[in-house]
This record gives sequence, C-alpha cells and structure tokens, in this order.
Amino acid sequence: MFFNTTQKPFIIAGPCSAETEEQLMSTAVQLSQTGKINALRAGIWKPRTRPETFAGVGLPGLEWMQQAKQKTGLPIAVEVASPYHVEMALKYGIDIIWLGARTTGNPFSVQEIADSLKGVSISVLIKNPVQPDIDLWSGGADRLLNAGIIDLGLVHRGFHTYRSTDYRNNPLWDLAIEMKNRYPAHALLCDPSHIVGKRDGLLEVCQKSIDLNYDGLMIESHNRPDQAWSDAAQQITPLRLKEMLDALIWRREESAELHPLIEELRRKIDCIDDELFSLISDRMKIVRSLSAYKKEKGLTIVQTGRWTEILQNAAAKGEKLHLATEFIEKYMEAIHSESIRHQTEVFNSSSQGS
Ligand code: PEP
Ligand code: MN
Repeated sequence: MFFNTTQKPFIIAGPCSAETEEQLMSTAVQLSQTGKINALRAGIWKPRTRPETFAGVGLPGLEWMQQAKQKTGLPIAVEVASPYHVEMALKYGIDIIWLGARTTGNPFSVQEIADSLKGVSISVLIKNPVQPDIDLWSGGADRLLNAGIIDLGLVHRGFHTYRSTDYRNNPLWDLAIEMKNRYPAHALLCDPSHIVGKRDGLLEVCQKSIDLNYDGLMIESHNRPDQAWSDAAQQITPLRLKEMLDALIWRREESAELHPLIEELRRKIDCIDDELFSLISDRMKIVRSLSAYKKEKGLTIVQTGRWTEILQNAAAKGEKLHLATEFIEKYMEAIHSESIRHQTEVFNSSSQGS
C-alpha cells in the first residue's frame, strides 16, 4: 500500500517517457542514489496532443522498467489508457499504474480500465481530468474503487485553459483540496511538472502543495532533460531534483492540543465567524423590510444601478483592507444571491415582509 497516506511524503520521479534503455537506466540509478525517491515513473505509451510527436516506445519500455526495478529496488509506475495497457503492465510486474489527465476525462476509458482491474491487486493513481470538473475526477475515482482497487491515490496536475496563463496547466488548489476532502483516506499528490511546464517555478509549486498538506509529489526527471523526446522544457536532472527536494520544507500536521496558541487563535476565529453570521442575519432582516416596502410600492427586486454601486464600493473598501478583489466579488455575489432569495420569499408570501 503506497497511497493510504501513512507513507508520507511519497515521491515518484522519472522521465516523462522511457526513450532508450540507457536513458531509463541511467536516470533510474541516479534517482535512486538521491535516496529521496519512493518510486520510479516513465511513460511507455504517451497520450500526445499532436499525432506527429513521439508516442512512446511501447513494450520494450516495460522490459527496461523491469530491469530498472531489479537494479534499484524502486517500485515502478507507468501510465495506462486501455485494458491492453493494464494487461501488459501486470505481465511486466509494474507496481503502480496511473490514469493520465486525458483518460480521466473519458468515462468510457476509465470504466474499461476499471473493469480490467476487477480482482487485481495493484496500486493506482488517477490524475485530474484536463477540464476543471471535479465530478469527472471523483467519478473516475469511484469507478476504480467500485472495481475493488484499495490503494488509490489522486494526482493534481493542473487544468487546461484556452487562454495562456503563467502555467502550462492551471492549478486549481481549491478544487484539489475539495477532492481530498471527498477521499480523506487516499493520498493526494501534486505533479508540479505538468502544472508549471518549465523548470523555473517547480519549487514554488511543490512548496505550495506541501503547505496545503498534500501527501507527495510526482515529478519528471531525466538524465539529459534538454534532449528529452517529450516535455523537455519541464524535466530536471536527478541532481537538480535532489537539491529541490532538500530545499522543501515539509510541515507537520499535529493536533492543535499540542499548540495552545493555535487553539487560542482558532477560538478567536470561531468568535469572529459567529459575529459575521449574526451580522449577515441582521443584514437579511433589513433586506426583508426593504423588500416588503418594494412590494407595496410595486418596485422590482433587482435594481441594477444599485448592485453596481455596491460592488464598486465593496471592491474599493476591500482593497484598503488587504482583501483581494476576487474574494470581495465572490463574497458580495453570495450575499446578493442570499438577499434575492429572502426578497423573493417576501414577494411570494401573502403577508407583507416579516
Ligand atoms: C505524464 O505524466 O507524462 C502525462 C502525460 O501527464 P498528464 O496525463 O498529466 O498530461
Ligand atoms: Mn510529461
């Protein structure tokens, strides 16, 4: 069992693709010499966006993986996208298989893979789908759990956006944390390589995931990154990987009872939350009186000019208080929709206001 969150942090590293026996073996040996790696990864069948790009070496790669395992003692991990891949991975003694982002996005493929795993004992990772749809990700996880897979882990590798951002695949931390909340017994790993898409910035994303209590990392590492046949820009040497892992600060998750200051500050936060709720409730009472008045005078619930004015004032005030405009907008929209709900209730009731 690798992904039941007891073995933390769990670090999987290796090349994007297995290319040659020498490349895989040399990378594997250097990675194992770092003493920091729990499993070796390599793509054998590559789901490439463009048909003219390198699509993986296929079966010979599985043999090289087997040899790398014999030489280093590291468990080995490959991506699978079909029942045939599963069959071959099992035949070659692969310890961990993972479903890539494009596969998770296709429920037919996930179900076929899950069916081929019935009665099989193997560790499985499921990456997030390319599109930011948490139910598609959790649907995939459930298909695998329903097939009897026990050792299941989740990998956050970022999400595709049409417009270019600083990332190759935009990390949606809140979505991934929500996924972890749905599967608390399963490890959540971060794949900074496919999130960042280049070497600079990998450390920052790794540290962010650790600070968010992720259980491990899947990172691409290649003995000669510049010459890699796929994802050259984002791969790092085993030596650079070791330096990066050494630089990371792993945090402890400990009971607050051991830290009285945490308890005290959390109590203050709870008090403020209570006050906020009671203030919001007071706000809604005023909204209801206003609504009763609007109803009596035959006015509409929503008055666009007023809403724009509220939003602008709130954003300006929020900025002075170090609150992000994005947060203020979300908060005000939530308040607004709750206000409309109250006003609609008043409008639909036979009495006038409450
Ligand atoms: C990979 O891990 O090399 C890969 C293809 O990743 P993803 O499915 O996240 O694109
Ligand atoms: Mn890759």
